[in-house]
Amino acid sequence: MSKRIAVVEDEAELASLIEYNLTRSGFQPRIFGGEDGTLVALEKFQPDLIVLDVMLPGHDGFELCRRIRSGGPMARVPVIFLTARSDEVDRVLGLEIGGDDYITKPFSPRELVARIKAHLRRSESDAAPEATEVVLGPFRLDQAARRVYQNGKEVELTSTEFKLLEFFLTHPGHAFSRDQLLRQVWGEQHFVTPRTVDVHVRRLREQIEARPDEPVFLATVRGFGYRFEAA
Ligand code: CA
Repeated sequence: MSKRIAVVEDEAELASLIEYNLTRSGFQPRIFGGEDGTLVALEKFQPDLIVLDVMLPGHDGFELCRRIRSGGPMARVPVIFLTARSDEVDRVLGLEIGGDDYITKPFSPRELVARIKAHLRRSESDAAPEATEVVLGPFRLDQAARRVYQNGKEVELTSTEFKLLEFFLTHPGHAFSRDQLLRQVWGEQHFVTPRTVDVHVRRLREQIEARPDEPVFLATVRGFGYRFEAA
């Protein structure tokens, strides 16, 4: 069954170029204009992945992403941002509010299609049937449901945050460099930098640590990377 890709982009020409390329690649795309009501329309469409422009007529793309991530049926759907502003702040912001990836305009449709495929492969391997349950300290990882509980309460995570925490929970006590984490968690996506790891670690700490500045679980290994302690 072909994957449904939501494209939230108000520039009609660019939107139809993307639509054309996605259809040619075997996807089932649908264009959304980004005006008020887009969130409800997206929920009805039930996308497997969302391509989200930052500059939209209603709410900006970041705000829309926040709402997508705030719970509900799309909380874990991968989001790829389209941004015309290439400065680092916007990129990091895009990741901090729960985007999984970003691509800077102008971009080649081929590159966008390649990234979409990479993210969908990740989502599929995420849903692998051999999934199990891991209990570590106060954490319970339910790989089949793609959920993590801490002291019985669910930790709200984006798909990338889940993948990172899942990796830590299944590899406790080992120190990993940022590059190792990039390879293990982000895989074949070459756009990410070691800074991406830091941003996501900070987000995870805000979720699971009582005092994020003095982490008990997700420790910094100075000059190297990170280590997960479940004591
Ligand atoms: Ca736009």
